[in-house]
Amino acid sequence: MLYLHIEPDQQLWLDAFASEAPDLKVVTAEDNPDPDKVRWVAAWNPSEGLFGRFPNLEAVFALGAGVDAFVRRDDLSEDVPLIRLLDAGMAEQMVEYILWATLTVQRDFDRYQQLQQQQKWQEHTARLKKQMRLGILGLGALGQEVATQLAAYGYPVSGWKRSPLELEGVRVFTGDQGLDDLVTQSDVLISLLPNTPQTRGLLNGELLKKLPQGAALVNVARGVQVVDEDLLQLLDSGHLRFAALDVFHEEPLPPEHPFWTHPAIRVTPHMAAATLPEPAVEQVVANLKKLEAGEEPAGLVKAESGY
Ligand code: NDP
Repeated sequence: MLYLHIEPDQQLWLDAFASEAPDLKVVTAEDNPDPDKVRWVAAWNPSEGLFGRFPNLEAVFALGAGVDAFVRRDDLSEDVPLIRLLDAGMAEQMVEYILWATLTVQRDFDRYQQLQQQQKWQEHTARLKKQMRLGILGLGALGQEVATQLAAYGYPVSGWKRSPLELEGVRVFTGDQGLDDLVTQSDVLISLLPNTPQTRGLLNGELLKKLPQGAALVNVARGVQVVDEDLLQLLDSGHLRFAALDVFHEEPLPPEHPFWTHPAIRVTPHMAAATLPEPAVEQVVANLKKLEAGEEPAGLVKAESGY
């Protein structure tokens, strides 16, 4: 029996399971299932203590790419396999979000918005794609796809990760020096890093001031990677021109937070890449079959790295 914990759109998920695996018994809290019979949990935003209720848990499926809410929890032993989604339709959405943010600065749409408010007719000199260097932090399931698609579209793209990687059309940097080299050569810096102790606070003043004058930041990863005050200071000083922020320390972003009203910031409500029930359920069901066959599932989270 698989216990599903997700909102909103629970019915869409139940329908996707019914269509992909008609023989699989899927239950929710409303069914009040016998906890002993629950073998698997598929969840997003798992509530505190959720996993502790099921003594015979064989695996947990995170219905998203980031697993920071699933790791280092008292109610979930590291011995229970944790399996996350790989892309599942999210990379395509990430490409669109990052393209929107890049075009906003490349084609001066941010400036034209302000000029319209002042009823001013004034043209800025356009920049070509080859003049917009994109630096992507994190080249995993999403970062690799974003990097290759935007490189194929004509942007000079670099990426950064810990272990080396060959990626067609993309310069890959590693290590601390690699991070510095990438940041100093990025007109748009994009984070697609997981939330780990090493990435928390990485996007701080010291790093962001190494970006070229007038650069932009796109954070579609996790809010805790940004030091909010440092970002505001660099935008106010004019060193950075623009930030597109989809994720925040606290979500929903509190009404009094200065990001809401800052003229150089675009706030979006953690929508850069939504989890889509059909491709997600397809992956869960394929992985259930692998588990039953004694094979390693795709997207198994390594306990030591936590992503
Ligand atoms: P992956 O785990 O597949 O990729 C993570 C990448 O980051 C890998 O290339 C990894 O490479 C690199 N990395 C991890 N730690 C470090 C580090 N300390 N220094 C340098 N590189 C590092 O994740 P996904 O691509 O699937 O997703 C990325 C993140 O995007 C998720 O964790 C989630 O937070 C966010 N997300 C946001 C969404 C939104 O709507 N805003 C939707 C979906 C995801 P290596 O192992 O070599 O270091």
